[in-house]
Amino acid sequence: MRSQFLPFSKPSISEAEIEAVAEVLRSGWITTGAKTAAFEQAFAGYCQAQDAVALNSATASMHLVLVAMGIGPGDEVITPSLTWVSTVNLLRLLGATPVFADIDRDSLMVSRQTVEPLLSERTRLIIPVHFAGAAVDLEPLRQMAAARHIPLIEDAAHAAGTEYQGKKIGQQGTAIFSFHPIKNMTCGEGGMFCSDDVDLLEHIRRLKFHGLGMDAFDRTMQGRSPQAEVQEPGFKYNLTDMAAALGLGQLSRLDAFIEKRTALAERYLALLADVPEILPLIPPTYPMRHSWHLFAVRLDSQKAGMGREQFMAELKKRNIGTGIHFKAVHQQRYYQECLPLPAGTLPNTEWNSERLCSLPLFPDMELDDVDDVVRAIKEVLA
Ligand SMILES: *Cc1c(COP(=O)(O)O)cnc(C)c1O
Repeated sequence: MRSQFLPFSKPSISEAEIEAVAEVLRSGWITTGAKTAAFEQAFAGYCQAQDAVALNSATASMHLVLVAMGIGPGDEVITPSLTWVSTVNLLRLLGATPVFADIDRDSLMVSRQTVEPLLSERTRLIIPVHFAGAAVDLEPLRQMAAARHIPLIEDAAHAAGTEYQGKKIGQQGTAIFSFHPIKNMTCGEGGMFCSDDVDLLEHIRRLKFHGLGMDAFDRTMQGRSPQAEVQEPGFKYNLTDMAAALGLGQLSRLDAFIEKRTALAERYLALLADVPEILPLIPPTYPMRHSWHLFAVRLDSQKAGMGREQFMAELKKRNIGTGIHFKAVHQQRYYQECLPLPAGTLPNTEWNSERLCSLPLFPDMELDDVDDVVRAIKEVLA
């Protein structure tokens, strides 16, 4: 058994990144400033996006885009239920109606097939989720959405560095990234809004800082204009330069992180091939670069002779951490009460929600750690 606990995720922070953050702390300018501007530029450059706006979370970014689009009562927004709760919470708080699209059983992603039947006259927006580092099949969704003049906002919280049909997520359309510590790269807390819609970019930039007709930081002013006035009521969602300094370091290592994650994931796939109780996700076959944000598997409880909670508890006893990504939103207590859906409405979502378990996967792990995890799994299942 392992002597040290292996968490399911851990950020990789270099000494150079610690020094970069310390430098900002010593500089006298710690909130949004030149580092944030440089981070936006570097991230847009990495994705080949038209432009990017840094925010203090992906949730904040999603909030702003929903506000910018005027999403509110009477509006329907199509999104999966097997996702993090943030988007659905925002829709609820804005008085809009989340309409849940089912997912593919093995990639956990929505598709044109599952979204199209849900379109109605009240559909205002579609929010697909790139899951676990794989890319949603965007092209059919984009064609469908364009034909109906319905915008598409990609939840790319798992997809920094992911490519679809040879293009980075974020290069085309509108995508929202997260830099929470478990994501592919982190800045403590943070998010990035990438878009090819210039008006939307400007609107997000304005809304993120009190609705002043300007950014939180003006390079030419070395601060911000004290004369700025409110153009419309906005929020306080700007990223700090301390976070941006960390983000810049992480971005420079993102491709190396993904290479390492890929090697670890391949090891898992090879070692788990002869464990019939464990069903890894099956990535789609269209051209993409998987960034392996998560290594999620489904436990076949019948074959295993134990439920998922027991399986996770047994692994924990053997010093192996696990997570659940995710419990379907529509099955969580609040949503069961206010938006009840009969069991079986979203069969693939529900099937996965009961079985999903994320195994340890992070760049500072070694291949030996994967061996430890699989050894512990075999022991638990024996
Ligand atoms: C993490 C996550 C978010 C939210 O990101 P934050 O930066 O924590 O706000 C949104 N969607 C998905 C799918 C996520 O995993």
